[in-house]
Amino acid sequence: MQQFCITYPEGKFKALTLSYDDGRTEDRRLVEIFNRYGLKGTFHLNSGLFPENLPEGQKEIYGARIPASEVKQLYAGHEVASHTYTHPTIARCPIDKVIPEVLEDRRFLENLVGYPVQGLSYPNGSYTEEIKEILPKLEIEYSRVVGSSHNFSLPKDWYQWQATCHHNQRLLEHGQEFVDLHKSQYLYLMYVWGHSFEFGRDDNFELMEKFGQLVGGRKDTWYCTNLEFKRYMDASARLVFTVDGQQVYNPTNLDIWINIDGTVQKIAPGQNKLD
Ligand SMILES: [Zn+2]
Repeated sequence: MQQFCITYPEGKFKALTLSYDDGRTEDRRLVEIFNRYGLKGTFHLNSGLFPENLPEGQKEIYGARIPASEVKQLYAGHEVASHTYTHPTIARCPIDKVIPEVLEDRRFLENLVGYPVQGLSYPNGSYTEEIKEILPKLEIEYSRVVGSSHNFSLPKDWYQWQATCHHNQRLLEHGQEFVDLHKSQYLYLMYVWGHSFEFGRDDNFELMEKFGQLVGGRKDTWYCTNLEFKRYMDASARLVFTVDGQQVYNPTNLDIWINIDGTVQKIAPGQNKLD
């Protein structure tokens, strides 16, 4: 009997994603580092705190932020995602006040970047079961919590997605463990989170430089945004194989890769005959 195993794109078995909150001005330097090492990240932004959207006479709230006018160009190639419009502790908000926090942030960000904004990270790490249930109806595909798993496992709950580590939590040690993983019978995900202002505060941008040198440019690793990862995993679960394993139907618009008895095959959208 043939063995069928989903892989990441091009047969890879490791994925790396990063997620940075608040859109502070230190994102400029962070994005430059990501781009230099081919890392991909998701940037969770609060549109209500863009300098252009602040009340008259106010220059910043909770620190200097990237202006709205710079968003599209700065984050090109990465994912722009929501962090709510004004960054409230949403577990304390009436539920009908949470919904516009998400939708208004989506609306504003989408007008800047020109694609559906479907990622979220919880401001102040705050959420409830009720909020988690509402998010899919607001077209939010996932939401990141704070706290770290310190492992490379795949998320079990997309609306309570826990990262591997914050960048100040043994990043280079975790990075080395990740690079050393070699059992391709498993799928691994390394997920790093934080805030770019912390690199300025701690004067440790060189930490991300070293991480990029360590993990960047590797053939076995897929560098992806949070949403690219979610969409790929969703799509891979939707493949329909014939019982005899000769044909597979891919109902999605993504190429999916699969390992069949040691041979990696690309499954294009639509009907595919397998080798
Ligand atoms: Zn935040």
